[in-house]
Amino acid sequence: MTDIRTDVCVVGGGPAGLTLALLLLRSGVRVTVVEKARGLDREYRGEILQPGGLALLDRLGVLRDARDRGACELTRFRLTDSRRVLMDFDYRRLPAPYDHLLSLPQRHLLQALLSRCERFEEFRHLPGHGVARLLEDGGAVRGVTTKGRDGARTVTARVVVGADGRYSKTRTLAGIAHRRHDVFDMDVLWFKLSADPTGVVRIHRGAGGPVIAYDSHPGSVQIGWTLPHHSYRETAARGIEHVREQVARSLPEYADRIRASVGALTDLTLLDVFAARAERWVRDGLVLIGDAAHTHSPLGAQGINLAVQDAVVLHPVLVDALRRSTGAVGADLLAAYERERAADIDAVMRLQVMQSKGMFAEGRLAATVRPRIAKAVSRTPLGRRITRRIAYGNPAIQVREDLFTT
Ligand SMILES: Cc1cc2nc3c(=O)[nH]c(=O)nc-3n(C[C@H](O)[C@H](O)[C@H](O)COP(=O)(O)OP(=O)(O)OC[C@H]3O[C@@H](n4cnc5c(N)ncnc54)[C@H](O)[C@@H]3O)c2cc1C
Repeated sequence: MTDIRTDVCVVGGGPAGLTLALLLLRSGVRVTVVEKARGLDREYRGEILQPGGLALLDRLGVLRDARDRGACELTRFRLTDSRRVLMDFDYRRLPAPYDHLLSLPQRHLLQALLSRCERFEEFRHLPGHGVARLLEDGGAVRGVTTKGRDGARTVTARVVVGADGRYSKTRTLAGIAHRRHDVFDMDVLWFKLSADPTGVVRIHRGAGGPVIAYDSHPGSVQIGWTLPHHSYRETAARGIEHVREQVARSLPEYADRIRASVGALTDLTLLDVFAARAERWVRDGLVLIGDAAHTHSPLGAQGINLAVQDAVVLHPVLVDALRRSTGAVGADLLAAYERERAADIDAVMRLQVMQSKGMFAEGRLAATVRPRIAKAVSRTPLGRRITRRIAYGNPAIQVREDLFTT
């Protein structure tokens, strides 16, 4: 097999990796994406895009294509506690055209990004190849070796970007520690039911425990039933009948469908949900982005949006670093990315801890305080600031179209 020489080798063709690949290709940079999966028919988690992520993908010219492949608009976020509405946020209060959330199958987003990348001659894609080793020279990363069904490959690059998700092998190979925080102290059972669209993302605190539900394309509702951390085994031991009844109590409107469609525990996926942060995101010749750098709980649907924003922040840093150096790019030239991004990510992590406590904490005190906090978030200027932060992330992050050569 021939070796590949490229400017940037991106490990992982998820939202972070493919967004960065497209930004760089449009700026005249040669990019190779190494992706472990052989195709796009694989398991995905995140589907909801916030207005800030939508705006960036639109500027990048992929949003329409992704939407045209199928998506559902969600216009409201509602938190209820035993049928009492505590919070009901209407996204249409935000300025159009990004005045909604979009439930977009991740496959559709990746197809749209990939088909744009494939138009560039400078793009090489290695699906079905996992990263095996980092090539290093004098402490600097100079590329990777990969392993795939069609053999091993060597990709020599001036920068390697680890965009290979929360269990990042690139991060491990680079010896970068990863600290896990159990802020979302829950396990989640995840499943879909066929259902008509509602246009609402719902968190219900019902008799059977908190549950997240939102429309998912095509014609279904995605349900995440939360239960205390590490309690699944005990719950499952009581049998599918018990699990089904608990979920049905939390979502009475879908009770009949839950009873009809959830026949066995294997119809449900148990998710390991956690938040974590790599101790650093930059080394000589190496950068981490997206979940590989910082992993988020699903609360507030932040992960894909942050992954896309990471790519947008890293793009000018990389273009500049590649222009200003020859050979491997030093950490000093990449450090601006970590400096610029760390405060935003830490702020989101703090916000998610607050959200998690506010929505899921149990006990009498929590039950008394929750409606007050919900009211404050709905009606006060501070609450509006928090909501805008969730919707847009850091609004100063903009695609640097001035760096595009095509
Ligand atoms: C239950 C759940 C629900 C969520 N819901 C939402 C939501 O609604 N909205 C939202 O914004 N976020 C959500 N998230 C988070 C979101 O899914 C992630 O933050 C987002 O996918 C991160 O993108 P990424 O590109 O960094 O990583 P990933 O999407 O994980 O992509 C990593 C890519 O790297 C590839 N890869 C992995 N290992 C290797 C290897 N060794 N070699 C080569 N390639 C490799 C993978 O196949 C994959 O394609 C949710 C997460 C969970 C757990």
